Amino acid sequence: MKAAIIAVGSELLGVARLDTNSLFLTECLEGFGVELFGKSVVGDDPTALADLIAFYLPRVAVLVLTGGLGPTADDITRQAVAQCLGRQISIDETLVEELRQRFASFGIVMAEVNRRQAEVISGAQRLANPKGSAPGQRLHQDGCEIFLLPGVPREMRAMTELHLRPWLASQPGTEQGLERRTLKVACLPESEVEARIAPAYEEFGRQNIVVLASPGEVDLQAVASGPVAERRCRLEEMQGRLAELVGEPVFSLDGATLESVVGQLLLAHGATVATAESCTAGLVAERLTRVAGSSQFFVGGVVTYSNALKRSLLGVEGETLERHGAVSEIVGRQMAEQVRRRLQSDYGIGITGIAGPGGGSEEKPVGTVHIAVAGPRGQLAHRRVRFPGDRQSVRQQSSQLALELLRRMLLAAPGSGES
Ligand code: ATP
Ligand code: MG
Repeated sequence: MKAAIIAVGSELLGVARLDTNSLFLTECLEGFGVELFGKSVVGDDPTALADLIAFYLPRVAVLVLTGGLGPTADDITRQAVAQCLGRQISIDETLVEELRQRFASFGIVMAEVNRRQAEVISGAQRLANPKGSAPGQRLHQDGCEIFLLPGVPREMRAMTELHLRPWLASQPGTEQGLERRTLKVACLPESEVEARIAPAYEEFGRQNIVVLASPGEVDLQAVASGPVAERRCRLEEMQGRLAELVGEPVFSLDGATLESVVGQLLLAHGATVATAESCTAGLVAERLTRVAGSSQFFVGGVVTYSNALKRSLLGVEGETLERHGAVSEIVGRQMAEQVRRRLQSDYGIGITGIAGPGGGSEEKPVGTVHIAVAGPRGQLAHRRVRFPGDRQSVRQQSSQLALELLRRMLLAAPGSGES
């Protein structure tokens, strides 16, 4: 079975918005072994859209359109589809009433333009939208199943789960899908990861392992296809082998982020953490608080960008700062220890460095960062590193290493009940 995706929206042709809906849809289609014949982005232009639909129609068995289902004049998907297929459009008064009630439930009187969202193409089945007002539609033409989904990503995702996925599952042959599992590795260069997993390339086939590097992290995607039970079994085998080959730097087998893994570990230990950040200016705190329920393990943090604040808020001695400079091992260590003590947490993180592009010297070039983690039993981990990359990348890598050092310390700590 072949499929095509059309993302509708003039903003997607500009520089401000990228079509990400098609990535989500592609992954869903892959799961059923459906091959993507093509995907296109088109502006809010009915003729251009009708032309594209006419092109894909005889070539694919599934055509998914996203966007352009809103109530305004630039929402042209319904018209373009009707025009291309030679079908009528009519207003479904029951749907109008439902829309009116939906608006009323938010205390809003529905504007007349919203009636357009109740336009239904003749012969189309309406698809409920649990996350928004724009309903979707599904219709069949010349052996092709056409899905009209909204553009708003969270609505599109919900409707994919509710309508597209069950339809795909009901089609013959779609049990032979493709599935990916992501294994995440912290703070190891891509080349080193590649070297470690070399035997797995031999064992499972190079094309079945995808390596994706980003600052401070390498994601390893294991890919397997076939019937569900068979491919899951294969994926588990691949995951186990990759984890064994890479070793300790693997922090997640299911795509979970480093901050969520650290959060879970802190929760499991009944422990808390506080942060003192200079060059990352709160990035570690921000990442930790992305995790739902973070108030149970994150007590807070300070951004001590200036030397004056390192002294007044953390008690780093003026003499130490003068003698060793703000970017030094001793200052990093003191930041971690002091924030732990002053904010009364079990663990403390200290980060001080030069993110660049300016501020470097021969002795301390741009990218030099001192990262320290202090623990409740006097443990102290410290790393002096020199990260490559631009300012944002140095900051990201710093936050990553800080979280990784904390993860390692937590793994080495005995059971729980330390606070
Ligand atoms: P709907 O069909 O839900 O009414 P729309 O096209 O009328 O969608 P817009 O207001 O154009 O709605 O888009 C809503 C938001 O969704 C915008 O922020 C837009 O950039 C985003 N969006 C639309 N299509 C995509 C896409 N393919 N990938 C990512 N974001 C998208
Ligand atoms: Mg749009």
